[in-house]
Amino acid sequence: MTVDHRLLELLVCPICKGPLELVRNEASQASELVCAADRLAFPVRDGIPVMLESEARPLDAADTTRDAGA
Ligand SMILES: [Zn+2]
Repeated sequence: MTVDHRLLELLVCPICKGPLELVRNEASQASELVCAADRLAFPVRDGIPVMLESEARPLDAADTTRDAGA
């Protein structure tokens, strides 16, 4: 299952209402939605974005520079 990109464009951070960056995994599937302002990554589970602060993963410094290469 893939996430509809138009849906993702409508999503904003539930905390700061700012834009989110979609992060894809090795299979080019949506895996996380990142808020750079809050340094949080919201998970995408089975194609469903989980926009809960309690579910978000704090980003560390390494995450800001990571790329698709693994
Ligand atoms: Zn935010």
